[in-house]
Order: sequence, then structure tokens, then C-alpha cells
Amino acid sequence: MSVRHESDVCIIGGGISAALMAWKLSELRPGTSIVVVEAGRRLFDADQRWLQRRRMLDYGENPWPGDNIPDQAAAGIISRSMVVGGSAMHWGGVTNRFSEEDTRLKSLFGLAEDWPLEWAELERYYCEAERRIGVAGDPSPLPEDARSQPYPMPAMRLSWNLHQLKAWGERSGIPFWPTPQAKNTRPYDGRGECLRCNTCAVCPTQARYAPDLTFKRLLASKAIELHDRTLVRRLLPRQGGGARADIESASAVRLDRPQETVEYRAKLFVVAAGYAWSSHLLLSSASTRFPQGLANSSGLVGKYMTGHASVQTQIELDAEVYPGMNEEHSLVSRQFFRAAASAPYVRHDLRIWESTVNRDPRLRDDAGKILLGDDLMADWRARSRRATARVRAYYDIHPDRSSELTLDPSTTNRFGDALPRIVHRADAASQARHGATLAHIEGVFKRLAQHGNAVMGPVEHGSYWDHPGGGCRMGHDPADSVTNSHGRTHDHDNLFVVGSPTLPSGGCTNGTLTFSALTLRSADHMATLLPQA
Ligand SMILES: Cc1cc2nc3c(=O)[nH]c(=O)nc-3n(C[C@H](O)[C@H](O)[C@H](O)COP(=O)(O)OP(=O)(O)OC[C@H]3O[C@@H](n4cnc5c(N)ncnc54)[C@H](O)[C@@H]3O)c2cc1C
Ligand code: SF4
Repeated sequence: MSVRHESDVCIIGGGISAALMAWKLSELRPGTSIVVVEAGRRLFDADQRWLQRRRMLDYGENPWPGDNIPDQAAAGIISRSMVVGGSAMHWGGVTNRFSEEDTRLKSLFGLAEDWPLEWAELERYYCEAERRIGVAGDPSPLPEDARSQPYPMPAMRLSWNLHQLKAWGERSGIPFWPTPQAKNTRPYDGRGECLRCNTCAVCPTQARYAPDLTFKRLLASKAIELHDRTLVRRLLPRQGGGARADIESASAVRLDRPQETVEYRAKLFVVAAGYAWSSHLLLSSASTRFPQGLANSSGLVGKYMTGHASVQTQIELDAEVYPGMNEEHSLVSRQFFRAAASAPYVRHDLRIWESTVNRDPRLRDDAGKILLGDDLMADWRARSRRATARVRAYYDIHPDRSSELTLDPSTTNRFGDALPRIVHRADAASQARHGATLAHIEGVFKRLAQHGNAVMGPVEHGSYWDHPGGGCRMGHDPADSVTNSHGRTHDHDNLFVVGSPTLPSGGCTNGTLTFSALTLRSADHMATLLPQA
């Protein structure tokens, strides 16, 4: 059996990029029919979150049961989350911006690629993204990070512990300030203030933004249709039209009714399926007419997969702290977003958290003796006499062309579709400077550790590239990129890719605010292609 749906816009994927796209398009073009197709289920169970949180704390249970599709996995992905709302259902809500340097790497430093847009324009979309999802922050004190609008909410207050760590960190001459977060510091957009209850992976109060809030609102106002548990398997181009044919339909299957195929026809198709599944869908849509897949005349779909690498340490120091005070909050410095022309290129962010490793109360001491009452308190006080700071840097690493997502025919889902394999590879310049990059960051850690009678622990290297993106990079030249700056594919006029896949490089700090800003910019352009109501 086959069912057909027709709409003006068909959005494939239901994460934060899809939520923002649907939200903005429905405002700019009221009456436009928008269908969002999401492979995962809808977990519209906000009333259950206190319970899920309790069970996570008491029994270590996954607070998001059913947020993935067991046979829809990939080698090299870092989040299995496939659900209405996507990974941002359990994100940390940290919303740092990239900086102008990220968009002008080639012209400023002769590295990687320039982005095909101006920073001043992107900055305005950052403001819009911050307003829509509700970001609380203090502006960076550095002039290069100037903002055209204030943060929508004042920054989360620093805990006593973070005040102590800030004073310590700044003794090294590095300024720190509260990390911006998509968490309410006052009632905002119909949601309450953060209670600082420390479990942001599952926020029981909805103080932290998550895309289900937007989808529920859009559904209530009938601005969209949402088809969950529906996996899009192929995009099909129109007959005729040569190599630049428009997309005619998306072919999908209902996961709970696999005998039923669903055909989506639309004027515009938006692939908002995240860093892994967007390239995957374009490659999976290969046919005899398009043997390399869709939007792939450049051969770059699935290439230049981006992200940033990380390195961290724990530093023990003299400071009077009380372990466990709003540990989700942190300090950030953007001092090292600037690369000195006189030294080898290195750019990184710098974050400090209070660490409670080995500082929580415990019922047995190191020798296994049971601790109760005064003994427990004495042990706890003894282990909390000093503080521990977790210090981490995300650093800039640029992808090689061979940093890629490919289809792996040896692993398939229940429909026999080959699943993705992602392997990140740094370009030659990033590899050449890697030693100097690590030496620089270790030097910064040591600089911090010179104060407060500190002892620095071992330096740990992250095992994956975080905030991944790429695979459909944007650019001016169709021979060297997959989409233009609005996410419109060079090959198919009615096919867009939005969010993380379009990034040519992955910056050196959390990426989701940037994915969101780019998506909102795409929405403005797409609206011009849709009729006014
Ligand atoms: C634990 C955790 C913490 C994080 N914390 C932060 C943070 O503090 N700050 C930050 O900046 N970022 C953070 N991130 C990253 C952030 O969550 C992601 O960057 C962001 O959610 C990506 O959104 P997206 O819409 O681009 O993609 P996704 O969230 O991946 O959404 C894509 C959706 O598309 C669906 N889909 C895919 N293929 C198909 C198909 N063929 N048919 C139908 N549907 C499909 C998927 O099921 C998925 O729901 C965190 C991530 C995790 C996992
Ligand atoms: S600390 Fe705030 S944002 Fe985090 S889970 Fe608690 S209420 Fe939600």
C-alpha cells in the first residue's frame, strides 16, 4: 500500500534545525503547508521528566528511553538520538558563537576555506537564534566579539564555586566569564526559570530549550504536520530536466507499518537530517541517472566532514568550595579565538568547570571501611579541603577531503539500505601543526596551574571530533561545494540542506548555535521562493 502527501515544503528530519526552519517559515509565509518527516518517535512527555530524572539519579537509567532506532546506526557517529527534537532533546544547551576568523580562514591565514557569507550578516542571525531559543549570557569583554544586540536574558549566576575558580583562572591574566546557555534565567517564552538542579541532560522544568517545545507549539497552531516514525529512504528527481532536475518526491516508509510506503511531493525539500544522515540520504538516492547520488556533481557529498578536537585536564588547587553546586554551569574564555600572526596557527576555546571527581560523599573509605555519621562527614571534609577544576579546550582542526562519510554495504538496516561510515581526517596543514597546537594548549593549562598551589593531572585527548558537521559544504563554486550559502544545492533548485552539514569548517567551540543561525538565514531565502498568503 502507498500513501501520498502533498505540501509546499517537506522538511526531512525533526531536530533543532528542522524546528527553527518550520517555525520561521510558518511566520514568514503563514498558510504555507509544511510537513516535517522524522524517523524517530515523538517523546512529548514533559510531565514525565521529573520521574525520568529521579530514576536516572537513583538507578542510572537512561532518561530518554526509545530515543533511537536500533538498526539505524552508523560507524563513527557520536549520537544515536533519532527522535522528534533530535540530539537537542538532551543537549547541554551551551550556545557559544563561532567568531569571524572561522568564516575567513583562507583569507586571514591561508587555511581551509572561507565561508561564502559575511560575518556581520551571520552575526544578526546569531541574535535571532538566541532570541528564538532563549539564551542567557554575559557579553564577551573582548572587542572582537562585539554583538549587535544584547543577550535576551542575563547570564546564569555564578555559583560560589565558580566565583572561586574565576578568581583563580584570572590570576593567569586570562579573562573568564559565564558560558552562554539556552537556559532561562528568568521566565521566558512561556517557560520558567532554571532551578539549578544539575541534570540538564533531562531538564524537568523546560528551563533549557529543547525542540519539542517548538514542535508542540507549531502543531497546536496547525502550522505544520508532523509525521514521526517515518524514515525517508530516497529522494527522487523529476523525469527530464537533465543533470539539474528538481526533486519530485521523497520516498519513505512508516517504521510501525513497514508494508506502507509513503510518497511526499512538495515544491521545496529541506534536508535537515543532521551531520550523518543528510549526506547519507543524498548518497542513498543514487540511481542510473545520478550514479553518485543527488546534489553530487562536485563529488563532495559526504566529504570534508568537520568538527573540532578536544584536550582536557584536571587541576587541583587551594580554594574553599562546596562540591556539587550547579556543576552544569561553567566559565569560558575566548581569548584564544585569535591566532597570533607571529606564532604557529592555533585557535581554541577554554572552559572551566568545578569537578566533583572523588569529592562526593561516600560510604566506604579507600581501605573499604564503612563510613557513617561523623566519620562520613570527616572523610568528606578531608577530601573537599581543596578544589578541582576541569579545564578543557576545543581546538580548530580542518578536514581533509578524505574526511568522509561513505555508504558501507556490509552494514544495512532492516530495509537493506547501506548505513553510513564516518572517518574524520585532518588536512595536511592541521596535521603538520598538531604538535605545536597541543604544546600551546598544554602551556595554557600549565599557566593556570602556576597559581593556587595547584597540581595538574594528566592531559587527556578527546577520541572524536565534537559538534560534527560537513558533508554538504557550502560555497560559491559548484565545482567545489554542494550548496550555496543558503543551503540550496547547486544541482537541484528546489532541494536545500540546512544546519551542520553545510559547514566548511567546524570552529573551535560548541556548534549548534551556528547551525541554528545558518538555518534561520536559509529560511529567509526559502520564504522568497514561496508565495505570500
Ligand atoms: C549529549 C549531547 C549534548 C550536547 N550538548 C550540546 C551543547 O551543549 N551545545 C551545542 O552546541 N551542541 C550540543 N550538542 C550537539 C547538538 O545536540 C546538535 O548539534 C544538534 O542537536 C544538531 O541538530 P540537527 O537538527 O542539525 O540534527 P539532529 O539533532 O541530529 O536531528 C536530525 C533528525 O533527523 C532525523 N532523520 C535523520 N535521517 C532521517 C531520514 N532519512 N528520515 C527522517 N528523519 C531522519 C533524525 O532522527 C534526527 O532526529 C550535544 C549533543 C549531545 C548528544
Ligand atoms: S539546572 Fe536548570 S536547565 Fe538544567 S535541568 Fe535543572 S532546571 Fe533544567
